[in-house]
Amino acid sequence: MTDRYDVIVIGGGPSGLMCALTAVGGIPINPPRGLRALVLERFRVGQFARYGKLRITHRWHIMGTQLMRDLEAEVRASGCIDVREEEPALVVRGSRGAFEVETPGGRFEGGNVALCTGFFPHLDLVPMVRSVRVVFSPPEIEARHLPAIPGDTVAVIGGGPETVEFAQGLQKLRPEVVFLVVLEHVETPPPSPSRNLRIVAGRLAVREEHRVGLVVEIHPRSGPSSAEECRFLLVDYNSYALETHVTDFLQGMGIERRKGYIVTGPAGETAIPGLVAAGNIVTPVSGVLTALDTGFKAGLELHTNLYRERYGREPLVFPWLPRSGIKSHPLA
Ligand SMILES: Cc1cc2nc3c(=O)[nH]c(=O)nc-3n(C[C@H](O)[C@H](O)[C@H](O)COP(=O)(O)OP(=O)(O)OC[C@H]3O[C@@H](n4cnc5c(N)ncnc54)[C@H](O)[C@@H]3O)c2cc1C
Repeated sequence: MTDRYDVIVIGGGPSGLMCALTAVGGIPINPPRGLRALVLERFRVGQFARYGKLRITHRWHIMGTQLMRDLEAEVRASGCIDVREEEPALVVRGSRGAFEVETPGGRFEGGNVALCTGFFPHLDLVPMVRSVRVVFSPPEIEARHLPAIPGDTVAVIGGGPETVEFAQGLQKLRPEVVFLVVLEHVETPPPSPSRNLRIVAGRLAVREEHRVGLVVEIHPRSGPSSAEECRFLLVDYNSYALETHVTDFLQGMGIERRKGYIVTGPAGETAIPGLVAAGNIVTPVSGVLTALDTGFKAGLELHTNLYRERYGREPLVFPWLPRSGIKSHPLA
């Protein structure tokens, strides 16, 4: 196999796999034929989505593991999508017909690129499900899930000041717990309000996970690093929804980004021809349905262009779905 693909998808979450499947196959009535895609995944396919019980409505959920298993089975059955795990995209350059994506393991050529990275920067933490919780809810609900016993430390990592507010809310409800807040995207931390609520600006890394609890390394922006025992680690998901650094590797490419999220048109198109984006990197923290939907639309955009190039005519698609270059609604 050569390393040249019709489409290179960066990110193997629900949006990335949906985008790859649609880019090679078009609408789900068609079996994939003739087009080739590559999915580059920084860790493991579906790492983030697998972790969750994915609620569709308040009562109805699907397991993230099941969703990813089904999507992966479709990708394998297509016979035309290669998947490379532990292969993060480090650099993307080029334009339609001639993209290059560099990873630590090599260089891949693609006619088109889809950016489906999600927004979540801490996927290395996700396997530590015993001691790490990704926060979705307000302090009133999160406080109930905290396992800590009096005097135990709970670390909370977040992007900015809203994480301090969140930890303060938790502390009112659980005053027996010591909170250590690590803010990743601020230069100077606000003063720590008490011994039981310490605030550091810097980075946190998990050194090891025990049967109960973790040893974490704190790397402050100024001052020496230290190691601490923590009973639990909360990742303040909502604060990262406000800003993400997952797409920093795209700097200088001319892609419009806002707070790290990629700005696209309705079909996932960006200012760079042949480059689309989908999933939570476009629509911050909006869940798996949106990830699948935007992955499908971006995939269809790529499929339409590839089909036109290859066969000189329009593919069979749902004509009312958004695609760039189609100005009027066919039912109007
Ligand atoms: C505990 C939990 C509960 C959840 N509950 C719900 C729920 O109830 N309902 C709901 O709808 N959603 C829920 N979600 C959210 C849902 O999982 C996400 O909305 C969905 O996974 C987003 O899909 P995505 O493809 O956009 O991004 P992701 O699933 O984040 O996938 C992005 C992928 O890109 C990879 N990547 C990032 N950067 C690079 C790079 N440079 N090179 C290569 N690969 C890269 C990442 O490793 C990741 O695998 C939950 C999530 C969690 C963790």
